[in-house]
Amino acid sequence: MKRLTLALAAAFAVAAFAQTSETVDSAAFAKIRDEGLNRSQIMDTMFWLTDRYGPRLMGSPEFEEAGDWAVKQLQSWGVANVHKERFAFGNGWSLVNFHATMTSPRVMPIIGVPKSWTPGISGIVTADVVRPVIASAADCTKLRGQLKGKIVLTQPARQVRMLEYGDGTVVRYTDKNAKWLTEAMTMPPPRAGGAGGRGGGRGGGAAGNAVPADVCAAIGTAAAAGGAAANPDDPTAPAAGGGGGRGGGLQNLITQFYKAEGVLALFDRGSDSDMAAGGSDLTWQQQHPDGGTFAVQSGGRQGDPPGTALPQVTLAVEHYNRMARLLDHNVPVKVELNIQTKDRAEVTATPNGFNIVGEIPGTDKAGEIVLVGAHFDSWQGATGATDNAAGSAAMMEVLRILKATGLAPRRTVRIGLWGGEEEGLLGSREYVRAHLGTAQAPLPELAKTSVYFNLDNGTGPIRGIWMQGNTGVEPIFKAWTAPLKDLGVEILSPRSVTQTDHGSFDAVGVPAFQFVQERYEYNSRTHHTNMDFLDRVQPNDMKQVATVAAMFVWQAANRDALLPRKQ
Ligand SMILES: [Zn+2]
Repeated sequence: MKRLTLALAAAFAVAAFAQTSETVDSAAFAKIRDEGLNRSQIMDTMFWLTDRYGPRLMGSPEFEEAGDWAVKQLQSWGVANVHKERFAFGNGWSLVNFHATMTSPRVMPIIGVPKSWTPGISGIVTADVVRPVIASAADCTKLRGQLKGKIVLTQPARQVRMLEYGDGTVVRYTDKNAKWLTEAMTMPPPRAGGAGGRGGGRGGGAAGNAVPADVCAAIGTAAAAGGAAANPDDPTAPAAGGGGGRGGGLQNLITQFYKAEGVLALFDRGSDSDMAAGGSDLTWQQQHPDGGTFAVQSGGRQGDPPGTALPQVTLAVEHYNRMARLLDHNVPVKVELNIQTKDRAEVTATPNGFNIVGEIPGTDKAGEIVLVGAHFDSWQGATGATDNAAGSAAMMEVLRILKATGLAPRRTVRIGLWGGEEEGLLGSREYVRAHLGTAQAPLPELAKTSVYFNLDNGTGPIRGIWMQGNTGVEPIFKAWTAPLKDLGVEILSPRSVTQTDHGSFDAVGVPAFQFVQERYEYNSRTHHTNMDFLDRVQPNDMKQVATVAAMFVWQAANRDALLPRKQ
């Protein structure tokens, strides 16, 4: 680990010298450190969750099998009461086969991934590729009868920049760009509208509504009302005028028109921007590397009947751009396309959604709970290595470390591996509903849950913790992290971060925290992309993550009092 600059170290010092009698269990820390750093099994866990059982798209048979493996693995380490807690989700979806090759005017194997919850096509089809532009009712009317059996490019080409320094593809808090660290240590200015929401996975192409009697007229009305562009940072998000991706938004209406006209499939090239935001309310951005890497999420909804959406594929921008440029020069383009998908209908008795829950029972405070977790599901374009096999494997490793050291926590340490985070924190919200209730109607476990720790920011080492506006924990975390300086843990950020599962617990008043991790290539290269494979995971950093998380868990499980709630 590099050292912080002097100025920033001074800033920590000012913030941190609150009085505390918090004690750290040095003997336990030494055991945890030895087990976690010298006898780690985390990369073995990573292999099984990614190469063997990934992707883990929520509700799919692959998710189910990965869950079965995790249950057995936790049991093999001596974790107690390991089980799946099921909840209704909707149809599961799997990719059965896919290939796309441009066959005219030249042969070009295409890099692409079908969007989840979109249907396949019948057989292997060679089809003309077109790029209609629909900005008015007249544009639409003119295209009637022209699109049957064709592949539609849904976006214009976009510029692909050379990779450069500056806001590059890798983020380290210790870089010369100390602005990232400065920002982490600063409360954000208050702003309306919260943190900007999740970079969700809803398709603009669900095409689920009844087609208006005159879809071209409806398109004309929506276009005149300015409901034009989809979110430029997230083309898979609903169109701006779409009212949540359904209803009368322009993008949605155009997709309905394509479906009614018998379009074979839609192709897109992902984001309109080559920059990725840092998430939560952090201002920094990273450059996407492009070069065959793209984010691909959902093009339909798991609650819709199968076949509601059109077949949709996201392509590498360079391949997409080539076809768009050929068409702009009036050179005909043909693509041979094969998309086979499979739906998994939900059975009421054994619904497709589940969380995995297990625990190490406590001793004299067994009725109180220290909860750790991470979301277990991924998107379908790769094996979800950094999002979020990394977090899941690290939290599993926390329990393995505690069992292997023979340390007996006073409180019960429970793990939750959540399903459906990518579809809207579904699993963690279900756990809260079933175990904790609400602030107004609490279940008994709510008052007995001391804390929830979450991991969901990729492979980077833990640099500290986002304190989530809970000032009471600062002197406590200060004491816990004092012996962890050599592991690089020293950021106690006052900020709240959003967009992952700790939010479900924070919402009902449980102290709930996401660790500060180096972002590395998370936002630029791996988050929700077709290249989120095991190769991008850093083994030594993963060991550090599990070890540091285990130390936090041990302290939380053994201090006399529960962690303080937010004031
Ligand atoms: Zn995630």
